[in-house]
Amino acid sequence: MSMTDDVLKSPIEYLKGVGPKRAQLLQKELGIFTFDDLLRHYPFRYVDRSIIYPIRSVVSTESHIQVFGRITSVRRVGGARLQRISATLEDETGQIELVWFKSLRWISESIREGQTYLVYGKPTRFKSQLNIVHPEMEEKSSRQGAAGPPLHPVYPSTDKLNNNGLGSRAISKLMIRLHEQSLNSVQESLSGKILDEVRLIPLRLALKNVHFPENNEMLAKAIFRIKFDELFFVQLRLLRQKLVNRNKYKGFVFEKIGDFFNRFYKEFIPFELTEAQKRVIKEIRRDLNSGNQMNRLLQGDVGSGKTMVAALSVLIALDNGFQACLMAPTEILANQHAANLRQYLEPLGVKIHLLSGSVKASDRVPILEELKNGTCHMVIGTHALIEDKVVFKNLGLAVIDEQHRFGVAQRAKLWKKNSNPPHVLVMTATPIPRTLAMTLYGDLDISIIDELPPGRKEIETVHRKDNSRMKVFGFLEQQIDLGRQVYIVYPLIEESQKLDYKDLMDGYESITRRFPKPKYQVSIVHGKMKSEDKDFEMKRFQKGETQIMVATTVIEVGVDIPNASVMVIESAERFGLSQLHQLRGRVGRGAEQSYCIMMTGYKLSEEGRTRLESMVRTNDGFEIAEVDLKLRGPGDFHGTQQSGLPMELKLTNLSKDNQIVGIAREKADATLSADPNLEQADNFPILKTFKKLHAKKINWARIS
Ligand code: ADP
Ligand code: MG
Repeated sequence: MSMTDDVLKSPIEYLKGVGPKRAQLLQKELGIFTFDDLLRHYPFRYVDRSIIYPIRSVVSTESHIQVFGRITSVRRVGGARLQRISATLEDETGQIELVWFKSLRWISESIREGQTYLVYGKPTRFKSQLNIVHPEMEEKSSRQGAAGPPLHPVYPSTDKLNNNGLGSRAISKLMIRLHEQSLNSVQESLSGKILDEVRLIPLRLALKNVHFPENNEMLAKAIFRIKFDELFFVQLRLLRQKLVNRNKYKGFVFEKIGDFFNRFYKEFIPFELTEAQKRVIKEIRRDLNSGNQMNRLLQGDVGSGKTMVAALSVLIALDNGFQACLMAPTEILANQHAANLRQYLEPLGVKIHLLSGSVKASDRVPILEELKNGTCHMVIGTHALIEDKVVFKNLGLAVIDEQHRFGVAQRAKLWKKNSNPPHVLVMTATPIPRTLAMTLYGDLDISIIDELPPGRKEIETVHRKDNSRMKVFGFLEQQIDLGRQVYIVYPLIEESQKLDYKDLMDGYESITRRFPKPKYQVSIVHGKMKSEDKDFEMKRFQKGETQIMVATTVIEVGVDIPNASVMVIESAERFGLSQLHQLRGRVGRGAEQSYCIMMTGYKLSEEGRTRLESMVRTNDGFEIAEVDLKLRGPGDFHGTQQSGLPMELKLTNLSKDNQIVGIAREKADATLSADPNLEQADNFPILKTFKKLHAKKINWARIS
């Protein structure tokens, strides 16, 4: 390690102007421990200090502004024990109040009536008047912007930091010192080849300009360079991991397509596969026979038939003498998969067990035994499957349904169920936007089912306000009289559980009043019920014994009842977009025209309105996913919190920077293909940075 590296690793405490107390705050509030961490604390926006606003045009309290004017009066409040100073600043267009609560003695001496100032700060509104509290003041005789480069950084800070003199302005001062002291120690992280090809500016110049831009053009270049870096090293990590896995683990070779598969395909399969399903099965077959361990992500819209793809993959495993498992995120879903797969596969003599939290301990004993001695072919369950007690004779394939409900760590645990890790097929509930998939699942290969089974009609989707409830009920009645079934779903959000359950119960009551027994039967399913009761109700609905299913989102994922053709979503504005799409996907599974009715009150946020409009506009899950990512940003995107966005992405916004993701992926791929161990001289900066970033985390096995 060279001297220059040491400087950037210095504890932040040792930066002049920080010291132990502020260092602690910076650590706690912003996670800044070292010089390098501070250097990577980027501004979230910039103020153009060359712009001076006429005072009258200042109306918003949203951002910092700069004005120029004369102090026409100064008022000192509190007598001898000064409490506050306020001053009126005036230009040709109007006046604004300036207010101070601190450093009063000093302010009192330095602010002079009649003098002109350049004033910078964030307006606030107090008693309908705009004023600027603790503005930055500079004496100026004429109207001209601040000296130096025009773009000033504004840094993310917190209340606590602000109160301790570490607001944006103070951070900016620290940053100047940091740059003086250590910018020269920043080492280039990329190869000359990549810098050339992508036309990137040097890292040092980028870091300088991201904090203190010379101009807008340099700022844009700096931001691009830094985002590229972030994404490049994420992709490098993922692709490198993929290579290491491939190198380290020999996959079981499933070379046979045998009796199970062939008999099923000839005698039992209930429908013709879609072209997309066939293509994906081929991709999977190729993986399973390649000698490498399969790690494949299967993406497809709701209802595109992922389950059948899973079933066929399972049969290939069985044909080659291996066991399989399928893990689902909820019990309802596990039960349903078990029911479906048993129906498909048991006629072939496939023995399937179900293992979930509610299986009694005494019933588990034989299940565990049969998995261990190999008399059972397949187990389906919830995360109960990853418990240590579950041991297989020879697990060859693990299918994970609706993976984004599971953490990455859970995925990894399934790997350890065999001396050699099983092939892994991950299926998502709804499509994930490409950029996000590349980043979250960049170490997996991706298959896409981009076609729905034939004969599916678009689900007619409408948005109705509460005043049309009677009409909606009338419509439900018609549909039920035609022999259809109806879901009515209520939101259930952890924080307002009590109120939500009340809504659900009130709703249930009004439904049973409107649809009375014995003509109508209404089921109810929610999370507080015992799982046997849930199961019982689901079964009644499935068999058509009840016409209406009132439920919370427990039915969201995967539930498949083709005769249900109407989905009513109550308080639809409270659901996220992908959740709405998932819910809608519960209908439209049979031959009948299906409907999705989203009920809301009158008040809707802008975002809520966009969500509902998108639902009404399109049935396409890939399109919905893109809109959702744009609306919510990657951090909130359905389930990504659990799966974890890479920490390295500080400046990158995955919902906007998709182009850079693509380039970074391509360059990382090309780099590793040419030089898997990063041994070439030109790649030395990459190797060094990569090792620094992943000092402990990464498996630095040699690939040869
Ligand atoms: P998802 O991809 O959402 O998990 P499922 O696997 O539950 O979708 O399939 C949805 C429905 O479509 C099921 O009822 C299934 O039997 C049916 N299905 C799947 N593939 C086909 C096909 N090729 N032709 C006709 N129906 C199909
Ligand atoms: Mg499914």
